[in-house]
Amino acid sequence: MITNDNIIALATPSGAGAIAVIRISGKDAIALANPFFTSIRGKDLNKQKSHTIHLGHITENDKVLDEVLLSIFKGPHSYTGEDVVEISCHGSPYIQQQIIQLFLRNGCRMANAGEFTLRAFLNGKMDLSQAEAVADLIASDNEASHQIAIQQMRGGFSNEIKKLRDQLLNFASLMELELDFAEEDVEFADRTQFKKLLTKIQRILKRLIDSFAVGNVIKNGIPIAIVGEPNVGKSTLLNALLNEERAIVSDIAGTTRDTIEDEMVIGGIGFRFIDTAGIRDTKDVVENIGIKKTYEKIEQAQVVVLLVDAWQMATHEDKLKTSIKELEKIRTKYPQKPLLVIANKVDRLDKEQIKDLQSQISGLHLLSAKTGQGVETLKSRLLDFVNTGALRNSETIVTNTRHYSSLLKALEEIEKVQFGMEEDTPSDLLAIDVREALYHLGEITGQVTNDELLGNIFANFCIGK
Ligand code: GDP
Repeated sequence: MITNDNIIALATPSGAGAIAVIRISGKDAIALANPFFTSIRGKDLNKQKSHTIHLGHITENDKVLDEVLLSIFKGPHSYTGEDVVEISCHGSPYIQQQIIQLFLRNGCRMANAGEFTLRAFLNGKMDLSQAEAVADLIASDNEASHQIAIQQMRGGFSNEIKKLRDQLLNFASLMELELDFAEEDVEFADRTQFKKLLTKIQRILKRLIDSFAVGNVIKNGIPIAIVGEPNVGKSTLLNALLNEERAIVSDIAGTTRDTIEDEMVIGGIGFRFIDTAGIRDTKDVVENIGIKKTYEKIEQAQVVVLLVDAWQMATHEDKLKTSIKELEKIRTKYPQKPLLVIANKVDRLDKEQIKDLQSQISGLHLLSAKTGQGVETLKSRLLDFVNTGALRNSETIVTNTRHYSSLLKALEEIEKVQFGMEEDTPSDLLAIDVREALYHLGEITGQVTNDELLGNIFANFCIGK
C-alpha cells in the first residue's frame, strides 16, 4: 500500500454548485500547489503557517483558471495526518475539472474511494471503527442514525473495546510468560482477576451484540408492515403519513398486490413502511402469492400494523368477523410481535358505531386517513414501539455488520476460555483462545488488520472522502 504520494479529489458533490472544494493530500501537497497559486498579497505558500487560508488565483501559463481560497493544513495536524491543501473554487464542473487536471499533470494522482480517510487511519488519526463512522455519518439521513455515527466517530465504541483488549492482552502476556517457566510451575496471571475480567468482557460484548438489533434498524429504518385487505386505505394512510401522493390510490380491490416500501422520518427516527397485500382468505393464485409475501414481510418487521375498514366493520357483521379473525391469526402466528390495530375511515361513522367497534376490539386506534384524524397520535404510538432507551441514554450502539460479526467471534472465544478455566484446561491451550479473542477485538478497532480488510472497507467510501 503506497501511502506517501500526492492524491487529489473533489471533496464536494460533483456537478455545479456555489463553491466546490478540491482536496490534495501528500508530502508535497503545499509545494505542488505553490507554483499554480498566485496570492493576491504575493505570499509564498511554502512559507505559510498551518491552518491558514489564502486568497488568490489558480493560474497555468499566465492563464487564470479561477479565483480561489486556498487552505493549508500541515501534517500531522490535518485530516489525513499529511500535508493537505484545500482549494475552494467556484462550483462550475468545468473549473473543477480544469484544476484537478492541472494537478494530475503536475505531481498528483486521482485519489481512490475513501483514500483520504484510509490515510487518516494509517497515520493514526483515527481507528478503524472511527473511520467507518465517517462513512455512516455522511450516509446518515435522520437524527438517530446521525447521533450513533457521531458517537462512533468520536471513539465512544472503540475506546471501550480498546480498553478491554489491552487488559486482556496483559493477561495473555502473563500467561505466555508462565509457559516460558513451565518447569517451575509459577503463576504470574492471577486466575481470580482473570476470571473477573472475562466475566466483564463477556457482559460488555453481550450488551454490544444486543445493541446491534436496535442499531441495525435505526441505521436502515424501522420496518413496519402494514397489513390490510385491499381498499381499507393503506395507500391513503401512507400518503397521509408522508404528506404527499406517492403510492397509487385506487378504488379497485386488490390493487396493492406486491409490496411497496415507503421511507420516512418520524420524530427523528427513520421508518420503513412496508405496504403488503393483506392476508384475507382467497383462491386467487396471484393474491395467494401476495399473502405469502405478506407473512414474509411480517417476519422481517419490527411492528405490525393491521389496518381495517371501520365503516365496513360497522355496517357488515361478516367484515367485523373477518377482521377479528385476521387479528387473531397474526397474534397466534407472531405472539411476540408488537401489533397495532387501526380502524380507518372513522369519518364515516357516528359516535355509537365507534363506541361499538371499540368494545369489540381492544386497543383499537381510530383513524381517518382521509381527514387526517388520528394520524399524529399514530405517529407517537409508533415511536413508543421503538426502543429508543439506548439512544436517549447515549449508550454505545453497534450498527456495523463487520463489528457485529467480530464481536460474536470474540464472545465465542471468551466463552471458550471461561469454559476452559472451569475445566482446568492447560494454560497453553487457553492462551490460544485468548489470542483468538484478542484478534477479533483488534479487528474492530484496526489494531489487527490486513490489506484485504482495509480494501473492502474503504471501497465503500465515496471518492474525495
Ligand atoms: P388500499 O387498497 O388499502 O391501498 O386503499 P386505498 O388507499 O387505495 O383506499 C381505497 C379507497 O378508500 C379510496 O377510495 C380512498 O379514497 C378511500 N379511503 C381511504 N381512507 C379513507 C378514510 O379515512 N375515509 C374515507 N371516507 N375514505 C377513505
